[in-house]
Amino acid sequence: MPLDAFREHVLLTPGPTPIHPRALQAMTRPMLGHMDPEVFALNREIQADLRVMYGTEPEGFTALLAGTGSLGMEAGFANLVEAGDEVLVCANGSFGRRMAEMAARYGARVHLVTAPLGEAVRPEDVATQLEMVQDLRMVAVVHGETSTGVLNPVPEIAELVRGTGALLAVDAVTTAGMEPFHMAEWGVDYAYTGAQKCLSAPPGVAPVAISDRALSRYGARHTPTPLWYCDFEGLRDYWTRHTYHHTVPVNLHFAFHAALQAALDEGMETRQRRVQRVGDAILSALTPLGFSPYVRRPQDRLPTVLALRLPDGFDDAGVRQALRVREISVTGGLGPTAGVIWRLGLMGEAARPGPYRTLMAALEDVLGARGLVARFDEALEGVLA
Ligand SMILES: *Cc1c(COP(=O)(O)O)cnc(C)c1O
Repeated sequence: MPLDAFREHVLLTPGPTPIHPRALQAMTRPMLGHMDPEVFALNREIQADLRVMYGTEPEGFTALLAGTGSLGMEAGFANLVEAGDEVLVCANGSFGRRMAEMAARYGARVHLVTAPLGEAVRPEDVATQLEMVQDLRMVAVVHGETSTGVLNPVPEIAELVRGTGALLAVDAVTTAGMEPFHMAEWGVDYAYTGAQKCLSAPPGVAPVAISDRALSRYGARHTPTPLWYCDFEGLRDYWTRHTYHHTVPVNLHFAFHAALQAALDEGMETRQRRVQRVGDAILSALTPLGFSPYVRRPQDRLPTVLALRLPDGFDDAGVRQALRVREISVTGGLGPTAGVIWRLGLMGEAARPGPYRTLMAALEDVLGARGLVARFDEALEGVLA
């Protein structure tokens, strides 16, 4: 069957998210060189917009890495950790464990703070570890754990880390660009996301923000950063001094710039309300079928990834396959939650009534259920009123 490039597909996955129309349009711009003055001007705007999105210090360093969110994660450990350093990782899901794995590969002595699946990391458990581990170099935490739909209490953890001398690295992949993020105010030293999550740009660039404190720690390294490609000094060569380091994906910069401007034009508070409203409407529509929130405590629920426990006896694989045939992609659980939950993406352009109304109509059809669309619409209007 030939692949029809222009067929409509309803992408409800927790990344990638549907591409923003302005980003798609920007992708059609003719190629420019990565050293072109126009590209440097565009990069300066991207850097300024990223300062706003992350809430950095006024002159905080921001940049795009040429890779996905995982490269943002890896660059933090590669630049800010040296072999033998003590690193504390909050690991209550797949992405927290990925952080621990990376820290270990860069030679860190990794200490873990865990939590049961579906629960947030407890600040008191972080405090205990902070007291036990001497000369801690870094604390790393995933803000929104995509694998379980859990929001970790980053501001509270940041407050504990402040004053210990350790750097704080935060995975902001499911939060920055959709929910308010206050890097400087909270005391975060390194933050990253992926273009294809909350900003609905194409995958392939990872926006990062690095605090002055992190840059000076980096400057005091005993050994060069093992990851040449994302060495902070190399990033500054290109992004600040405008000298060649490597060829950046210029057309992804065009698209990212357009998507980020669209997000800032809309405003984080408006985006946050959009997520909440659509999320609440989904829950109202699906609860009578036996779906329930997977994350027990409301304050631990990540708004941008709605994790729903499936009704007893629900044919997870069969229903998602039937949806896929109808051009709708829904993501199930990972590892221990496979077959137990669905993870509905509410990042970027996925957090709109249209695509979820399409899901409700398709579920009425697939499950032989009634009233889903009506309940969904009623809940949306209820919020508006
Ligand atoms: C998606 C995701 C990543 C990894 O991003 P990729 O773009 O897939 O490399 C890291 N952390 C979290 C929380 C994510 O959701």
